[in-house]
Amino acid sequence: MAKEQTLSIIKPDGVERNLVGEILQRFEQNGLRIVATKMIQMSRKQAEGFYDIHRERPFFGELTEFMSRSPVVVTVLEGENAVAKHREVMGATNPAEAAEGTIRKDFAESIGENTVHGSDSLENAAIEIAYFFAKIERVNAG
Ligand code: ATP
Ligand code: MG
Repeated sequence: MAKEQTLSIIKPDGVERNLVGEILQRFEQNGLRIVATKMIQMSRKQAEGFYDIHRERPFFGELTEFMSRSPVVVTVLEGENAVAKHREVMGATNPAEAAEGTIRKDFAESIGENTVHGSDSLENAAIEIAYFFAKIERVNAG
């Protein structure tokens, strides 16, 4: 296993319900270390840019409207196998299918408002981290 970095977002429904501390704590308790974090509110255009791979999907409008509705917390997490580990802690996209004890099982209310985002590959993690963070904002980034 190798040390990796992944991009995590606490989505608007998570921030609105005051779940930031509880969610970040779950990452830390699962061996993921915060190496950068900040709160931002994305414009519609920034949300569309972030989810560009889903542009042709039927839920793209709903998704980007939701993601730009109110602030989000974007975080770079580091650890052994961080991409897969983070997705395991988040749980399945649809909370109805998420495993017991996962963030989405415990907090998400629908497949659309599912509380957290996590990169799905090491390659996308690098792209997503660069979308939100300058090198100077990431500890030990050289
Ligand atoms: P994310 O990329 O946010 O971490 P994911 O990788 O589990 O989630 P994706 O397939 O990449 O899932 O979908 C991106 C996001 O689009 C989902 O997290 C969810 O918010 C939204 N989404 C996916 N499928 C649907 C759907 N059928 N209806 C509404 N929203 C959806
Ligand atoms: Mg995804």
